[in-house]
Amino acid sequence: MPDQSQPFRALISASNLYRRKLCPGSAKAEEGLPEFSPSAAQRQGTDLHAKEYDEESSRDELKAGEKRALEKNKRMTEDFIRQTFLSLEIADPGPCRVFKEREFFLSDESGDPVYPAVPGHTDEVHWYPQHKIVFVFDSKFGRKPVQKAEMNYQLRLYFVMVQDEIGGERIFCAIRQPYLKSPEDFHSVEYITSEHAEASRREILQIIAECSKPDAKRIPSIDACTYCRAQGTARCPESRQFLRQVSRQHILALHPPTLEAMATDIIAAENVIEAWYDRMQFIAETYPELLQHYGLGFTQYTDSVRNIAAAYGKLAPFFDSERNTSSYDGFLRFVTNCCKLSVPKMRNYLIKHHSMTEDDAYALIVRELGVQHEGEDPIEGALIFSKPKKRMLVKTTKERS
Ligand code: SF4
Repeated sequence: MPDQSQPFRALISASNLYRRKLCPGSAKAEEGLPEFSPSAAQRQGTDLHAKEYDEESSRDELKAGEKRALEKNKRMTEDFIRQTFLSLEIADPGPCRVFKEREFFLSDESGDPVYPAVPGHTDEVHWYPQHKIVFVFDSKFGRKPVQKAEMNYQLRLYFVMVQDEIGGERIFCAIRQPYLKSPEDFHSVEYITSEHAEASRREILQIIAECSKPDAKRIPSIDACTYCRAQGTARCPESRQFLRQVSRQHILALHPPTLEAMATDIIAAENVIEAWYDRMQFIAETYPELLQHYGLGFTQYTDSVRNIAAAYGKLAPFFDSERNTSSYDGFLRFVTNCCKLSVPKMRNYLIKHHSMTEDDAYALIVRELGVQHEGEDPIEGALIFSKPKKRMLVKTTKERS
């Protein structure tokens, strides 16, 4: 059996042809990106494919459900072949050659292999030369239904390749999904070589041609992006925007019990974000040269007024209109102003009542009250104590491509 773990992946192959059709720009976007590390479900699928390939190998270590899935695939395969011959009124199918895990390659209209090579790795092919009938089976061990056989581009490509390399006048291509219930667990399409081969080849070559254009468009969708390695990376800004929209819509559609059930994960995510932010901020403060796209923002200050009564007294001429009132309301306003006196409040007051610009108002306050900066020599009589705030992490340039 070919080594499934090898890092090389053709840019266009049977397994990603549907993605390439939906999003022609995905071929270029994924080029050179590393493979995803396989999830537990993918590893299980690979193991089951290996067991299906080698029927003689021991199944002792498999779980009962996994054994049932393999047996179900076998049963569905045999039933389908038997039913097909019955419906074609063929009593004797004749000899059969079975190919497992065989790799095929796409050729163009003149029979030359397409370059760069476009491979297709079939799970199981049964060839009945006496009647020129071929069955192609693809196993999917996931729980998510895949595209129906008639619309399945992986199967369509298998059909073109198989009829080129093996022959056959009628080619039946089927998907087996043993973990699903009937009728989702098995679906098939029949291709007649004389009717469908050239049109299918043209369609596939057209998809490849679209992907090869330098300006091939990236078109995000759930079907296209789910298994795309460019998803969420700088190679595909469209997918980032799309993911944000999708996750928002997804959250908005959830019922309160589901939202509540997510709380633990959300809190964990919050902790990750906090830890990321703290670490990045530390690097930006300590080793800024290590970061290319993030850095610290401008220093901002917190100004606090040390002696509110004294400060109010110094700025009294500017607050006269409020202090020189004999009414009880005016007195209350005066007290409120005294107690809440802050630099932004004074500045806003001056901007509003004295038509000053923000800079002029601040300059006047600093001049009248005096500012003592943290860590600097004491300034006699300064009424504002100014302390730098922690500098924020900010994005500084375009992201790495
Ligand atoms: S992430 Fe989606 S939109 Fe972006 S290249 Fe991949 S398939 Fe296309």
